[in-house]
Amino acid sequence: MINRPHLPSIDQLLQNEQVQPMLEKFGHDLVVSALRQVVKGLRQSQRIASDQVIIEGTDVLLNQWSAPTLLPVINASGILLHTNLGRAPLSEKAFSAMQDMAVSYNNLEFDLDSGRRGSRALHAEQIITRLTGAESAYVVNNNAAAVLLVLSALANRKRVLVSRSQMVEIGGGFRVPDVMRQSGAKLVEIGTTNRLHLYDYENALQEAAGMVLCAHHSNFKIVGFTKEPALRDICTVAHAKDIPVFHDLGSGALLDTATFGLAHEPTVQESLQAGVDVLSFSGDKLMGGPQAGIIVGRKALLDKIKKHPLARALRPDKLCLAGVTATLLSYLTGKATHEIPIWQMISLPLDEIHQTALKWKQTLGQGEIIPGKSMVGGGSLPEESMPTTLFALHVSKPDRFMQSLRQQRIPIIARIEADQVLFDPRTVLPHQESYLLETLQKLLQSNA
Ligand SMILES: *Cc1c(COP(=O)(O)O)cnc(C)c1O
Repeated sequence: MINRPHLPSIDQLLQNEQVQPMLEKFGHDLVVSALRQVVKGLRQSQRIASDQVIIEGTDVLLNQWSAPTLLPVINASGILLHTNLGRAPLSEKAFSAMQDMAVSYNNLEFDLDSGRRGSRALHAEQIITRLTGAESAYVVNNNAAAVLLVLSALANRKRVLVSRSQMVEIGGGFRVPDVMRQSGAKLVEIGTTNRLHLYDYENALQEAAGMVLCAHHSNFKIVGFTKEPALRDICTVAHAKDIPVFHDLGSGALLDTATFGLAHEPTVQESLQAGVDVLSFSGDKLMGGPQAGIIVGRKALLDKIKKHPLARALRPDKLCLAGVTATLLSYLTGKATHEIPIWQMISLPLDEIHQTALKWKQTLGQGEIIPGKSMVGGGSLPEESMPTTLFALHVSKPDRFMQSLRQQRIPIIARIEADQVLFDPRTVLPHQESYLLETLQKLLQSNA
């Protein structure tokens, strides 16, 4: 017979005065579960523990259980649109619109004129069509959903022509051919990996087809002996056979990146002007808004898309619609580069970045200022970078230092190059700067 160590009962522990604030903070049931787990652990390992030790263990457990795992972080990596770091931070205006919508009832599907049921699709459509010149628009949860919906609604069981050079995987398991299969479309590959000619389309269109799909290469680039016909010419060839052209534009620039010293990223407006019938892009890449997929194009096609059963399953919520609309209003009023964080970062003058890096060096009394590169990321402008000024720290164990940066209350994401820990001021948001400096100061002191 095992001699069971004596442990206090849960009821006894609940009376302990140190447990009272826990009950207040975490609620009775959660505290009981945590106490039980701690006591059970002790019993199984046949250990005796004081009430004090049990209560401390319970507190640790309760804090673990209630701590959020999704946290704001400081992005000092210099990658503006980092899918792992939540892509685009929102503008103040988008945030405030979403906040208003979050804490109130609203007319999401209510027509204020007639007092009857309205349509949620209306709210964003007007501003998107005004901005892009498209006949019609529809918003879904993300661009992967947009591509799936467009293909399902317009090309189910039909041949869809795609260039071999565009059979890309975007990351996170999104592969153009897999989405096509899922939608029921029949993939017809044309051209070669590096060369695509207009006659490839003409030849494939000898046989009946449902659609021509042009997909943005996203995060990779084909260089060297390459060729791709102009979108306008592809549209002419497809339209001669009455076949619609769908452009998965990916990042969806609404401003010309070339005006900021970057390569030219095709814009939504240009693609529509080239004659594309349906186009889709993400809300949280270069548009700089919340996660969303935006579909624009010809009204007859959009009407079919809106009626497809999947449209209901992929519909955006009120917060998304409020954020998308508020973000787009910044473009409509010509204020995108002032109001939308992603465009503020893209248009930040090098001199200003340099001044910030210098200030960090002075504040911390160590480190170096070195020239470097920021990347746009987010499946746009692959291999393209912007000149920046980096703040570089020499520490004895860079990997260990990076880990402590990630373990802060607001984790800090930097990068290592040549054994230096690098911080790019371009992607550090102004409201997070003081926390970054305080934390670096603290870590460098304890490191010294
Ligand atoms: C990013 C991207 C997608 C997926 O968009 P999500 O908004 O992440 O769902 C689809 N196609 C292209 C070309 C992309 O770049």
